[in-house]
Amino acid sequence: MENEKGLLIVLSGPSGVGKGTVRKKIFDDPSTSYKYSISMTTRDKREGEVDGVDYFFKAKSEFEELIKQDQFIEYAEFVGNYYGTPVQYVKDTMDQGYDVFLEIEVEGAKQVRKKFPDALFIFLAPPSLDHLRERLVGRGTESSEKIQSRVHEARREVEMMNLYDYVVVNDEVDLAKQRIQSIVAAEHLKRERIEAKYRKMILEAKK
Ligand code: 5GP
Repeated sequence: MENEKGLLIVLSGPSGVGKGTVRKKIFDDPSTSYKYSISMTTRDKREGEVDGVDYFFKAKSEFEELIKQDQFIEYAEFVGNYYGTPVQYVKDTMDQGYDVFLEIEVEGAKQVRKKFPDALFIFLAPPSLDHLRERLVGRGTESSEKIQSRVHEARREVEMMNLYDYVVVNDEVDLAKQRIQSIVAAEHLKRERIEAKYRKMILEAKK
């Protein structure tokens, strides 16, 4: 039988909630078969980050040129920088039958929802906003002005939970990882997906 198309998994949620940490936990697990779509950004590289691994770091003019060329599934401006998902990798990888995993903020997730209504949308939520602020301060990589603006952004994002299919509370990274893996496994067993597969098999058997 022809390769079944992969699932598009969107993990989203407020900045500082720990999306990156949960995502890394998921991809450190050798049983994970999803492919991670590396985003492009115009923000400065943080210490320890590697171009082409954490992000593709681009100049603003380059990013804007790619927007014009329609090279993004989605993009958003977040705290003064662009972030976007390159279209080609996602399409090719899903066509090969792999699940593709995006870790993006909510404005981008909204755009993905319009283009890929079948995608799976998971919202990673903080146990509380105070907890979130503590984490951002604790990270020590941002100025207090930037932290304020990220916390403001986070409040708005929490209100946007209703865009998502599932909410996973990030109280513990391992638990959040397991919950996400369970959601993805269940999504693959959805009646609509299985039914489509069987319909295809029946059509092929008739040939
Ligand atoms: P950071 O600067 O902390 O790496 O990321 C800031 C925010 O941008 C995070 O919420 C992160 O998930 C989000 N982000 C990363 N890549 C993308 C992307 O390709 N598109 C969108 N819309 N957001 C992204």
